[in-house]
Amino acid sequence: MKKPIIYLMIFISSTIGVASMNFLKPLEMTIVYDNNPYDKNLRTEWGFSCFIKGLSKTLLFDTGKDSKILLSNMKKLEIDPRSVEVVVLSHEHKDHTGGLEGLLKEKPGIEVWVPYFFDSSFKEKVKKNGGRLAEVNGFRKICDGAYTTGVIRGWIKEQSLILDSPQGIILMTGCAHPRIVNVIDKVKELMDKDIHLALGGFHLAGFPKKEIREIIAHFRDAGVKKVGPCHCSGDEARKLFEMEYGRDFVQVGVGRRIQIQ
Ligand SMILES: [Zn+2]
Ligand SMILES: [Zn+2]
Repeated sequence: MKKPIIYLMIFISSTIGVASMNFLKPLEMTIVYDNNPYDKNLRTEWGFSCFIKGLSKTLLFDTGKDSKILLSNMKKLEIDPRSVEVVVLSHEHKDHTGGLEGLLKEKPGIEVWVPYFFDSSFKEKVKKNGGRLAEVNGFRKICDGAYTTGVIRGWIKEQSLILDSPQGIILMTGCAHPRIVNVIDKVKELMDKDIHLALGGFHLAGFPKKEIREIIAHFRDAGVKKVGPCHCSGDEARKLFEMEYGRDFVQVGVGRRIQIQ
């Protein structure tokens, strides 16, 4: 009679162990492609890409423009491109999509989540290169802890990525062409949680200071706790965000790793 009890105890303790390990696994985001420098050993180039691990699937949000730069930066950061299971593409600009083809050569079979309006020739190419296409229109769950906002309307339509972390929502934007304030409002509408960090391209280069200040005030009103503007955010906006957010401003450039416990 003793043996089954021992087996049961082993089963229960190992189950608890796995569950708590999942809970304790940190969410880690690494910027693998950006035009802003951070790690001097990596190449900067116009575009954006972020590698995300710690969820039920390993994600890459956008791919930058040039797969050679993408793959070489990943290698220097000791990130195996074959670990990527899902690619989410924000919008169909080359500086966000150009690295995909080279990545699919390394690892065919990746799920590729694109807004539905992407050009049919692009979609065909993804399939031809071995990608498994997922076409996005509305808000959808990608995997445990990750969602797409769905297509956000604007002069250039785009999808953004929502990560549901223990600290709050992490919002990741490619270029935020539909305007960053509209993206923030959309996420507030979709998720019943505060935004812990908004990160990525805010598309504010060349905006007048007054307008940038109004946008920053909107971030504050929306309760966005931390910010990490990069890519197309513009130096002026980055400076003004840093002045306002102080210690809650996250310096983002290629090679920056952000861990959420
Ligand atoms: Zn763009
Ligand atoms: Zn861009």
